Amino acid sequence: MGGAASFSAAIKASELSGGQMSIGMVGYGKIGGTCVNVGCVPSKYLLEASHSVYYPQHPQD
Ligand SMILES: Cc1cc2nc3c(=O)[nH]c(=O)nc-3n(C[C@H](O)[C@H](O)[C@H](O)COP(=O)(O)OP(=O)(O)OC[C@H]3O[C@@H](n4cnc5c(N)ncnc54)[C@H](O)[C@@H]3O)c2cc1C
Repeated sequence: MGGAASFSAAIKASELSGGQMSIGMVGYGKIGGTCVNVGCVPSKYLLEASHSVYYPQHPQD
């Protein structure tokens, strides 16, 4: 798996082994999962881009 949850699990597993174990992740498709590819990151980018158009035209807001 290659989403946010698997990155957290991999980091935790590495911590629990004291950095002694190599942690592998197996998945398919684009690495990064929902957050990086279609969720948090692109939605914040679209919000920021739309703010830069909307607010100059609606300064009262
Ligand atoms: C529009 C939008 C905006 C969002 N904004 C935010 C935000 O601002 N803040 C926030 O905290 N959360 C936000 N979220 C929610 C956040 O994206 C998800 O909670 C988070 O991505 C879930 O992570 P996950 O690892 O559980 O699943 P995912 O990120 O979906 O990762 C699952 C991974 O598993 C892989 N996989 C699936 N099946 C298999 C299989 N059989 N074998 C191998 N690999 C497999 C997939 O390819 C994928 O890489 C948003 C979501 C959306 C849709």
